[in-house]
Order: sequence, then C-alpha cells, then structure tokens
Amino acid sequence: MEYLITGGAGFLGRNLANRLLAEGHTVILLDDFSSSSVSNLSGLEKSKIKIINHDVEDPYDMSCDGIFNFACPASPIKYQQNPVKTIRTATLGVFNAVDLALRNRVPVLQASTSEVYGDPLIDPQSEDYWGNVNPIGIRSCYDEGKRIGETILTDYARQYSAEVKIARIFNTYGPYMAPDDGRVVSNFIMQALQDFPITIYGKGNQIRSFCFVDDTIKGVLKLFESKMDHRPVNIGNPHPLTMLELAKKIISLTNSNSKIDFFDLPGDDPKIRTPNIERAIEKLDWKPTTNIDDGLIKTIDYFSTFI
Ligand code: NAD
Ligand code: UDP
Repeated sequence: MEYLITGGAGFLGRNLANRLLAEGHTVILLDDFSSSSVSNLSGLEKSKIKIINHDVEDPYDMSCDGIFNFACPASPIKYQQNPVKTIRTATLGVFNAVDLALRNRVPVLQASTSEVYGDPLIDPQSEDYWGNVNPIGIRSCYDEGKRIGETILTDYARQYSAEVKIARIFNTYGPYMAPDDGRVVSNFIMQALQDFPITIYGKGNQIRSFCFVDDTIKGVLKLFESKMDHRPVNIGNPHPLTMLELAKKIISLTNSNSKIDFFDLPGDDPKIRTPNIERAIEKLDWKPTTNIDDGLIKTIDYFSTFI
C-alpha cells in the first residue's frame, strides 16, 4: 500500500512512517517543515518514501491507499507562535485531507488530541466527556481547532459516508521529538543532560500521563485497520505523573546535577489529564506496554546524540 502522512516529518509522522515501511508499505510524506526539519527523515529508506513540501491549508491531489492527517504543531510553544496559522492548519487541513480521502475512496485517520478535553473537570477522561475548553484562550487555536477537526470529520462520515477514524492522542514522547520543541519531556531531558536548571512551570503538581511513541503508533495503526466507525478513541497511557515527579525521574535516570527552577504557569494549562482507555482495549485490543522508565531511557539515549 502507499499511504499519505501529512506532517510526515514531525515526531509522530516520522515514527509512523518508519513503522509502515517496516510492514512493507511505501509512504508519501507531505509537510511544510514549519515545526520539523528534513533531517528528521534521515534513516528512512529513500526509495520507499516521497517527500512533498506543501502546506495542508492549500488543496492537494494525489492517489493513495489511505491518509494519516498529522500535520499540525503539537507543542504549546510552537502552536502559540502563530495561532492563526495553527487554526487554519487544524481546520482547512482537515477539509483538504478528507476531501482527498473521498476522491480516492480511502480511509482517513485524524491525529486528534486529549486537548479536546481542555482543562477537564473529571478524571480520567473517557471519549463521551465533552470537555471544558476556553474558546478564547492562548491554547484555543489548538484545542478548538482540533475540536472543529473532529466535527468536520464526523459530519463528512455522516453526510458523505467518508471512512473516518479519530485518534485522541494523549501526551506521547520518544525518539524523533525535536530537542528544542518546548514540550516537557524534551525540555527536561535536554536540560538534565547538560546540567542546566530544570524549568518547572507552576508548582509542578499538574498531572499528565505519558505514552511511549511505539505504543502510540501501534494504537494508531490498530485503529486505522479496525472496523471502528468515526467515534473517537483515546490513545494514551493511563499512568499519572506530576511534573515534579517527572523532573526527579529524569534527573535520576540521567545522573544529572541539575537543580529545579520554578516559573509562572502559562494560561489555561490543564491541571490533570489522564485517559480512560477502555474503548481502545475493547475495540482495538490495544493498551500501552512500555513502562515510563524504559521509555525515558530510550528517549534519553536519543537526545544524548544532540549534546
Ligand atoms: P510535530 O510538531 O513534531 O509534527 C507536526 C508536523 O506537521 C511537522 O513536521 C510540521 O512541520 C508539520 N506541519 C505543521 N503545520 C503544517 C502545515 N500547515 N502544512 C504541512 N505540514 C505542517 O508534532 P507531533 O508531536 O508529531 O504531532 C503530530 C500530530 O499529532 C499533530 O496533529 C498533533 O496535534 C497530534 N498529537 C500529538 C501528540 C503528541 O504528544 N505528540 C498528542 C496529541 C496529538
Ligand atoms: N512544562 C513544564 N516545564 C517545561 C515544559 C512544560 O513544567 O519546560 C509543563 C507544562 O506547563 C504542562 C506540562 O509540563 O503542565 C506538559 O507540557 P507540554 O508542553 O509537554 O504539553 P501539554 O500537555 O501542556 O500540551
């Protein structure tokens, strides 16, 4: 099969491409390289990939056997740098992906996000929770953009019978994250490896759950291959961690001399986010298998190559 991955040069796109190639497929990687670099694709078998430099806001056409719509910056720092661009990517990009899917009569899988739950009032979050989202805050370009993305896809499924899969991906980490992309795992590891102060925002008692990238990609592929309809499926690791616990764990795993510095918490930063993955277990027979220490050690090894 030949699959299109939009945002294919980014963290998840690159890992997904690697996995699809290992399964014997070829991939088309469409990316504008706004939050990644072509060097992130080194190591992929060149004869099996096509790279297209294109902005998903603008329509595109090609034949392919399936679409993974991953184009969109995922780091809060990156998506807030140009919020108008982010919401255009998250909305127009979805129209263009699903229109292409209809023209080819192939499935489209959307990389949605746990951010659709906003600053949740219940924990853990299951797919039937509608969320608690600020429509005009600094995270809204991403959160609301991704929510509209789900709406667009669901309406295309209902109205035009588009074959749509929606993965609500929770915080994922691992090799091929950009070392400077500003997310917590890459920041803490890069800081710890250089004995720089660890930058905790707020008191560090906010909670996230981190899924190792190989687990996330397996879940995404199981969803793509499943008979699941357009209903969203949470893909994440339910194991909760405070940012202070994460910082201490990374300092210990890197044998670092870093101290911890505390900074202001950015606006609308969710206090707690962990997935209920019962739907993924039941419908996809999927759950993550990598424990946080093993995943972090692999990620630390990867980031060490940048020091
Ligand atoms: P990333 O920033 O590493 O990769 C995103 C890729 O999309 C980059 O290569 C970037 O250049 C490209 N891109 C951005 N805007 C584009 C545009 N307008 N046209 C073409 N290409 C564009 O992020 P990631 O972590 O790989 O995330 C990939 C997808 O998964 C995103 O849609 C994100 O919302 C979603 N997601 C990721 C996570 C996570 O923890 N990594 C969690 C939830 C959802
Ligand atoms: N964070 C932090 N220090 C950093 C980067 C992030 O304390 O250097 C916090 C951030 O405020 C948030 C959590 O870590 O509470 C996860 O941040 P990230 O940007 O990775 O993703 P989010 O889950 O907020 O989208």
